[in-house]
Amino acid sequence: MYIAIDLGATNLRVGIGQNKILEKVSEPTAKKSSRVITQVVRLSEYLLKKYKTSPSAVGIASIGPFNLEEGSIIPPNLPFKKLKLVKPLEKKFKTHVHLINDCHAAVLAEKYFGAGKSVNNLVYVTLSTGIGGGAIVDGNLLLGKDGNAVHIGHTIIDFERRLRCGCGNYGCWEAYCSGANIPNFIRFLSKKIRVENSLLFKLSKGLNELTSELLFECAKKDDKISMRIVDEIGRLNAIGFANMINLFDPELITVGGSIALNNPRLVLQPIKKYVRKYAINKIPEIRITPLGEDTGLLGALIVAKKFH
Ligand SMILES: [Zn+2]
Repeated sequence: MYIAIDLGATNLRVGIGQNKILEKVSEPTAKKSSRVITQVVRLSEYLLKKYKTSPSAVGIASIGPFNLEEGSIIPPNLPFKKLKLVKPLEKKFKTHVHLINDCHAAVLAEKYFGAGKSVNNLVYVTLSTGIGGGAIVDGNLLLGKDGNAVHIGHTIIDFERRLRCGCGNYGCWEAYCSGANIPNFIRFLSKKIRVENSLLFKLSKGLNELTSELLFECAKKDDKISMRIVDEIGRLNAIGFANMINLFDPELITVGGSIALNNPRLVLQPIKKYVRKYAINKIPEIRITPLGEDTGLLGALIVAKKFH
């Protein structure tokens, strides 16, 4: 049996399985680095005990960026700066622990279990708390020197660098279109467009209690301002997608992450509308992943098996 771990900014998921995930448990990710390790161990032990087994190997799909030499993550979207994952877990489970970026894991999962089984050029994008990507080009998973390849959320889409990103830089795609930063982008847009008469303004108590969920909720209720903002987010997403299409020339792009999974039409429609304007390469099929929230876990299972 293998332990598969999906460590996200919002949720921690742990699963157990051999050729598929037999059972999974999840909790909101702990806010302190030391607690994350305890949490991973506790959830894993619960599953191992239930299945009366010990792990042959452990795969971790985690938000990045990484320092692979150290087996640590240095995430901009968590309240701590650094988390050493690999060594403490190898010590605890007495077996090999393999760390992979969650979007690299997701594109692997798409290739082996999802919509990408028949293609050799495939990109996965997550639109979630943050924005990330993974790419398989000519059948090869792109990893990079530190395991940080295809860090698309931090590619610059606004050269005027108007909004600051969690990574400290300005103008990153993620600073405009990720779940964590959409409220900031709405406040920025509200300096240019009149939002005062909108449902969004009313429900967010004058933009003071904004969330990305509220924006999409209002857009679904045909609130004109919310629809306009969703369209603008889609246009910026299309720039990010076009950059990937021009870089990797994929046959298929699958999209996951809570924002896309909860609002498939509102997210995909504007991307498809604008992407032709920005891409020179032939536009591939763009669709929501059929694997839902399990992309990271399934990818973690694949790497645990592969490197066992
Ligand atoms: Zn950034």
